[in-house]
Amino acid sequence: MTKKGRVFSGARPTGRQHIGNYLGAIKNYVDMQEDYDCVYCIVDLHALTTLETTKDLRQNTLEMAWDWLAAGMDPNKSIIFVQSMVKQVTELHTILSMVTPLGKLTDLPTFKEKVRDHPHNVNYGLVGYPVLQAADITLYKTNFVPVGIDQVPHIEFTRECVRSFNYLYNTTVLIEPQAKITQFPKILGTDGVNKMSKSLNNDIELAATADETSAIVMKMVTDPQRLRRTDPGDPDVCNVFSLHKVFSQPDEVENINVECRKAGIGCVDCKKLLAKNMNDYFAPLRAKREEFAKDESGTWDMLRDGAKRAEVIAEATMAEVRAAVGLPK
Ligand code: ADP
Repeated sequence: MTKKGRVFSGARPTGRQHIGNYLGAIKNYVDMQEDYDCVYCIVDLHALTTLETTKDLRQNTLEMAWDWLAAGMDPNKSIIFVQSMVKQVTELHTILSMVTPLGKLTDLPTFKEKVRDHPHNVNYGLVGYPVLQAADITLYKTNFVPVGIDQVPHIEFTRECVRSFNYLYNTTVLIEPQAKITQFPKILGTDGVNKMSKSLNNDIELAATADETSAIVMKMVTDPQRLRRTDPGDPDVCNVFSLHKVFSQPDEVENINVECRKAGIGCVDCKKLLAKNMNDYFAPLRAKREEFAKDESGTWDMLRDGAKRAEVIAEATMAEVRAAVGLPK
C-alpha cells in the first residue's frame, strides 16, 4: 500500500447517474485517486435488499460503470469492480453476522427508515445491510470510508463489529476504519425543493444529451415568489442560481445575482445560460461515455480485472480471518 492509506467506497448500481451523484460523490472519488489507494465497488448484492433496485441489475451496473469511467475514475489508478465478483465478501458477512447483536441492527436509524419506506419487504438481508457493508469495508483493510453524515452510524457500527471480532478471536486481523466526512453539497432536484433523486424524477442525468438537458433545465422551478418577468427575483432561494454557482463563471454568477434581484434578467435567459454552461461542462464526459458504452464486453473485462485485484486483498484477509476463527485453511 502506498499513498495516505486505503479508501473504500461502494454505491448501489442505480443505473445512469445524475448530477447530484456526480457533485456529491463521483467527483470526490476522482479527486481522491491521487492521494489514496482507492477501492471503488458497485455493490450489487446491496441492491438486492430493496425491490426497485433489483431491476435490470446488469444493465444498471454497466450504466453506472460508464458514468464512473467517463467522469475520470481510472482503473489504472484505482481498483474498480463489482461486489458480487469477489465471493469472499459473503463469507466475511456470515462470520461478522455472528458477532453482531440483532438489537444493534434494528436500532439503526437507516433501518427504521427502510422499514418505513418498504413495509412489505422487510427482509433478513435488509436487517443485515450494515453487516455486509462492514464486510465490504474490512475485507479490503480499509482505513477511510468517505461518507455523508447520514452514514456515520454505519461506520461506527463497522468499528464496533471489528472490535467485537478482534476481541472474541483474540486477533488484530480486522482494521477499524475511519469515516471521512465528505463536504458533499446536497444538490436539489429540478423541483427546487427535494434532494435530487432518480426516484423523485427530479434529476438530470450526466448522460443526457445537450437537448435533453436544456429541456429539463427550462422546466426547473425557480423562485416561487417570482410570478412575472417584471417581478424581482431572489437568487438565494432559486436552485437554478445554486447550479450557476457550480457550472458558470464567477462574473456570470455575479451578474445574475445582481440582475435577478432587479428583474434585469428573466428566468428564461437565466436557464438558457445554465443549460449552455452545463452542456459545455459535461461535453467531454459525455463524449468519453459514448466511447465506453460502445464496448460492453470491454467494460465487463475491466470490472473483472478490478475484481481479480480486489480478490488478492480479499483472500489474504480471509486467510487471516479463517485462521483466527479456527476454520479450515
Ligand atoms: P446509494 O444507495 O448507493 O448511496 P445513491 O444513488 O442514493 O445510492 O447515492 C450515491 C451517492 O451519491 C451517495 O454518496 C450519495 O450521497 C450521493 N448523492 C445522491 N444524490 C445526491 C444529491 N442530490 N446531492 C448530493 N449527493 C447525492
